[in-house]
Amino acid sequence: MAGIYVHVPFCKQKCTYCDFASFPREIGKAESYFACLYREIEGRAKQYPSKIIDTIYIGGGTPSVVDAKFIAGAIRQIKKCFTVKKDAEITIELNPGTVDQDKIKTYKSVGINRFSLGLQTGFDDQLKRLNRVHTAKDFLLCCNMLKGENLSADILLGLHDQDLEQVKKSVDLALAGGVKHLSVYALTPEVGTPIYTDYLNGELLSDDEVADIYDGIREYLKEKGFDRYEVSNFAKDGYYSKHNMNYWRRGEYIGVGVSASSFCDGRRFTNTFSVDEYMNAVIYNKSPEISSDVIEGDDAKFEFIMLALRTTKGLNVKEYNKLFDADFDIEYKTVLDKKMRFMERDGENLKIKDEYLYVQNDIILAFMKN
Ligand code: SF4
Repeated sequence: MAGIYVHVPFCKQKCTYCDFASFPREIGKAESYFACLYREIEGRAKQYPSKIIDTIYIGGGTPSVVDAKFIAGAIRQIKKCFTVKKDAEITIELNPGTVDQDKIKTYKSVGINRFSLGLQTGFDDQLKRLNRVHTAKDFLLCCNMLKGENLSADILLGLHDQDLEQVKKSVDLALAGGVKHLSVYALTPEVGTPIYTDYLNGELLSDDEVADIYDGIREYLKEKGFDRYEVSNFAKDGYYSKHNMNYWRRGEYIGVGVSASSFCDGRRFTNTFSVDEYMNAVIYNKSPEISSDVIEGDDAKFEFIMLALRTTKGLNVKEYNKLFDADFDIEYKTVLDKKMRFMERDGENLKIKDEYLYVQNDIILAFMKN
């Protein structure tokens, strides 16, 4: 089983915290971009003909900003070139304010069955400060258009003057919209983004303040019947993201488009971050990849451990031993002796204790130093 990720590198405008591959000024290239994307899909299918696809994820950027016919074309091309399971989970990221009924109709007509909405916060002043294109009302209108569908929303922690009560209200707004899955991320002020200046000026929350809000919201979501199944992801039973679960299981995925990453047959590779370079490569039958690494030995083991320990289910020791023909308990005895107080073991499952999951990095890194 494998997933496919499609990157749409266009947005209406740039959010102040964004360092993703999204280029508002290049939206005029959308038609040529998708023509190239369809070609890459065909090429990747020839390269990996035996992969059975059970999840597709259209992300960005803002996929909903381009004409829906391009998105439909990408899904049709994937279904034509790959073997896609009938019950595949097919997700599209949408930004409120860029969606209408016709677009939704087109998405559904090609089998898109999961919609991930970029809410970030339910407060219009914060949305404006982040240079988001939408308001809280736009979010609810969007949810209304998608009534009865499988909805997810993103929420950001660590915004200017944000407190737990505000985040709870943002969650309430998402729940009022019928959302069954929430991704709750801490804002990372990346160098070169406008918000980085605010960070340097001490206008954003400290890591400790964000961690406190995270703990409060984790409790709140628990009360609302949401399971935390990964450090940043919460869902009602039956609504876990299959596409993301595949990443954390170290499953295979093929990424197409600008900046897309893939993991296939033990190789991790990433495409160029430039729209022009990408299109030139595809047009001239060259590879759009800018990096490629075969992951094996200790690196593969560490990846498996790192990804599994991000989830609340944790790592299955038996699976690890079988996969790597190894004995986990002997191999990592020193780390386990040192870090076991932060973890718990239930038979074959080893997981980070709930209260330490948010600050997992030190624990996970110890496995790399082994
Ligand atoms: S919508 Fe997303 S990808 Fe686009 S600019 Fe904002 S954060 Fe970046």
